[in-house]
Amino acid sequence: MPINLLFPPRCAGCRAEGASCCARCLAAFGAPRRVDVPGKGPPVFALADYRGPGGALVLALKERGRRDLVPVFGALVAAAVPKLPRRYPGEFREWRLVPVPSRRAAARRRGGSHLVGIVRRAGLPVACALAFGPGVADSVGLGAAARRANLAGRVRLVPGGLPPPGAAVVLLDDVVTTGATASACVSALKIGGFRVPAVLTLTTARRTHPHE
Ligand SMILES: [Zn+2]
Repeated sequence: MPINLLFPPRCAGCRAEGASCCARCLAAFGAPRRVDVPGKGPPVFALADYRGPGGALVLALKERGRRDLVPVFGALVAAAVPKLPRRYPGEFREWRLVPVPSRRAAARRRGGSHLVGIVRRAGLPVACALAFGPGVADSVGLGAAARRANLAGRVRLVPGGLPPPGAAVVLLDDVVTTGATASACVSALKIGGFRVPAVLTLTTARRTHPHE
């Protein structure tokens, strides 16, 4: 018997019975908000604050194997992309969402990249164009400078996963903290000749404001 017939699902954010994500936790996510990030990179947009249910749900998916949240996040991303300011990515004829890659061990533990699953579920065009090279440690617990040092030159393009030449790319991540990972990924994509008009993240620990 499938396990969900024996045990009703519990919200991955607050453990309330009834659904993978209850309505209250889902309400932590809203229209994309502009994230305050240092540096000159493309604008970063987040759907929720990492503190609170947003972060709890991302952690449940990443670290506790709650794959039942993939459809929940897929729906959130599908709803969010059309709400990005028109030029991100609407004005481009060819565009793809490119997920920030997983550290290899972490992806194995999760049975594949959760971000790729989310984009597929959202029904949006995805390109798995990036990978971390050897030697990139998990960035948990590292400060901004240490993260940059950890990432410098270690994000590479995956030849078999690239978008069509000249396509625009929206980078997708699950949490933006220092912005170092996103920035390293954007650099690699730009070196590859792709325009990166925006970064979309499910959550952020940084300050946000409405983009209009
Ligand atoms: Zn909940």
